Amino acid sequence: MNILIVDDSAVSRTFLTDMLHEAGYDNIIQAESMEEVFAMFSRMEKPTCTLVDLVLLDIHLPGKNGIEGCRELKQIEQFQDVPVIIISGLGQLDNLELAFAAGAIDYLTKPPNRLELKVRIGSALKLKGEIDRRKARERELLEMTARLEEVNRELRYRSTRDGLTGVANRYAGDDFLSREWLRAIREQKEFSVIMIDIDFFKLYNDSHGHLKGDECLKKVAAALQRGIHRPADLLVRYGGEEFMALLPDTDPEGALSVAMTMKEMVERTELQHGSSMASPHVSVSIGIATARPGEGMPVEMLIAAADQALYRAKQEGRNRICMAGD
Ligand code: GH3
Ligand code: MG
Ligand code: MG
Repeated sequence: MNILIVDDSAVSRTFLTDMLHEAGYDNIIQAESMEEVFAMFSRMEKPTCTLVDLVLLDIHLPGKNGIEGCRELKQIEQFQDVPVIIISGLGQLDNLELAFAAGAIDYLTKPPNRLELKVRIGSALKLKGEIDRRKARERELLEMTARLEEVNRELRYRSTRDGLTGVANRYAGDDFLSREWLRAIREQKEFSVIMIDIDFFKLYNDSHGHLKGDECLKKVAAALQRGIHRPADLLVRYGGEEFMALLPDTDPEGALSVAMTMKEMVERTELQHGSSMASPHVSVSIGIATARPGEGMPVEMLIAAADQALYRAKQEGRNRICMAGD
């Protein structure tokens, strides 16, 4: 326990220090004035823990008196919870009300009675201990809440992402689709869906192994993502080696341009695929469908149309783009 005595009388300081030593308190810091106290603390590096556990403060001091000193001390963060006991001469009791208003929690008259000093200090330090423990619990709770929020954020993020490729998962895609489809109906806007499927991917797995297959999926997803530039668009891993790009407020020309960029980005990754009959490299087949949805039109119709266009792209030889309605 660190106890700070501020008293201009050396006799008083020594008397108090001796009494405190007798009562078992060893770490006593002495100061003659508040100016000395402030100078002492301003010389220290910004302390993070409590420096002093209790202050015994004389009211009558040269320079700043004890009441002003107490008020200023209480404005310093590290002193806010430190109990201050005012030591006043009998003739200065009028000032007690001011001292309490300035933040003191107790007072003693000079010269203090040994037992009274011991008991009052004991109870002030007990209070300080309780405040410290409560504050530590509050800090712990705050830290725990922050950690929980972080975990929650991470969980929310993970629950919407595909673990392998990092793009949106099917669940997030369905969620996005239902919201954006309703918006498209409300705002009478076109909505485009692009279905993408890797060509002969089963053969790729068969010849390179499943792990290389996973690597390939990651690279294709990243390439497809590079084809999407609008923040309103979403790339989804729809199934095994099938992806879907959802493009709100996009007409067929816009969707075709996105699809062409995606296809080109996949080609540029130049992943060797010796057993593909469509290209020496990993390639994709793409189906596009666009609708200007009317009230009550189910989104499944648009998905089915994009799926049919993709099926046609496969039928016509793969490594190509087909548009619904062509
Ligand atoms: P097509 O050109 O007609 O699309 O032929 P395909 O072989 O790509 O299509 P198919 O549907 O026959 O096979 C898809 C393959 O994708 C089968 C499966 O092993 C593979 N696949 C699906 N998900 C994963 C995955 O997460 N990792 C790996 N490595 N392979 C996957
Ligand atoms: Mg495939
Ligand atoms: Mg497939």
